[in-house]
Amino acid sequence: MKVLVVNAGSSSIKYQVFDMTNENVLAKGLVDRVGIPGTTLEHKPAGKDEVVIKRDLPDHTAGMKLVLEVLTNEEYGVIKSMDEIGAVGHRVVHGGENFAESVVIDDHVKKVIKDCFDIAPLHNPPNLMGIEACQALMPNVPHVAVFDTAFHQTMDPANFLYALPYEVYEKYHVRRYGFHGTSHYYVSHRAAEMLGKPYEECKIVTLHLGNGASMAAIKNGRVVDTSMGFTPLEGLVMGTRSGDIDPAIVFFLMEKLGMNTQEANNYFNKKCGMLGLSGVSNDLRDILEAAKSGNERAKIALEVYYNRVKGYIGNYIAKLNGCDCLVFTAGVGENGYDVRENICKDLDYLGIKIDPEKNKVRGKEVDVAAEDSKVRIFVIPTNEELVIARDTYRLAQGK
Ligand code: AMP
Repeated sequence: MKVLVVNAGSSSIKYQVFDMTNENVLAKGLVDRVGIPGTTLEHKPAGKDEVVIKRDLPDHTAGMKLVLEVLTNEEYGVIKSMDEIGAVGHRVVHGGENFAESVVIDDHVKKVIKDCFDIAPLHNPPNLMGIEACQALMPNVPHVAVFDTAFHQTMDPANFLYALPYEVYEKYHVRRYGFHGTSHYYVSHRAAEMLGKPYEECKIVTLHLGNGASMAAIKNGRVVDTSMGFTPLEGLVMGTRSGDIDPAIVFFLMEKLGMNTQEANNYFNKKCGMLGLSGVSNDLRDILEAAKSGNERAKIALEVYYNRVKGYIGNYIAKLNGCDCLVFTAGVGENGYDVRENICKDLDYLGIKIDPEKNKVRGKEVDVAAEDSKVRIFVIPTNEELVIARDTYRLAQGK
């Protein structure tokens, strides 16, 4: 069976086609600027040249139509007709407390995705638009929702509750949810394989360090804690998001900078983090470069970034009462070896010792810990699309 994986954002659609007989990717691509003048589709068929198509598209349905047109194109397509696609898997950011696993999408599932608009206003509406566009074009195949929050649903109240009046949890569902769940799921399972231990017996700390960043503590196959919270704003220092701050800063700056709630939301999500601190960029490569050339703000931004991650490593090792391995993944975690080295520096008390030579790798599955490190340190490229494809394939077969 061939499975189409779709990740619809507010103005973009990412897609991949998998042949599930061997899990090969037949094609991947991105439609960018959907609904904005200058829509572009970049299509990468396996073993063929990349194709770029520029055509203004008004909405997600038009975007998906173009994707299907490209996938079946005689020259650069990868399937003869859409009938070859047996199921479609959709990335959905927020499933609230309703889904601890992926599900076949029906009216109830769509209602729950809609009910979560309130708590995921940037992500769930475009996710649902993507689902509805695909269902309209492919009405006869199962569509599956794979939630970013699902993997973290094993957390217990001791870690998911905030110290707020209990009624706000009951009434408004304010609690820690956690995100990047498919990534934490994928790399933690790979890590158990690399450890040669049953997943259910491992203590793993995963570090998804990308433009958005989060960590998770996983024990005996269950998420104990994760750094993103009610929204993806909490936790680590990110490209443009502040991560943890004193909540009183929000009221203080709203008053000082004359921001309303929407402006404040935008400010803490888009203007803070590494961009705000360094004044250089939200891209860690630029900041590392600037720090090397002596930029003091870039240097201090990196120190804040490393310290936050170190703090979470300590926090999570305490909560797990031990640790078999750290796992670095996503753009920074997979490629930034100086970042990994700085994070792991001076953690030998916790049994963490990196081998600086082994660590000089990018984007490869490898153990970069020193021989005598008690904790293994893995670099594992994440593969969220594969998790979505596998779940979709399984559910499409009624398993
Ligand atoms: P992602 O969100 O997973 O796509 O990751 C994007 C982030 O990865 C950006 O901030 C990039 O700067 C970062 N990144 C990519 N390559 C490197 C590298 N070699 N060193 C440090 N950061 C990198």
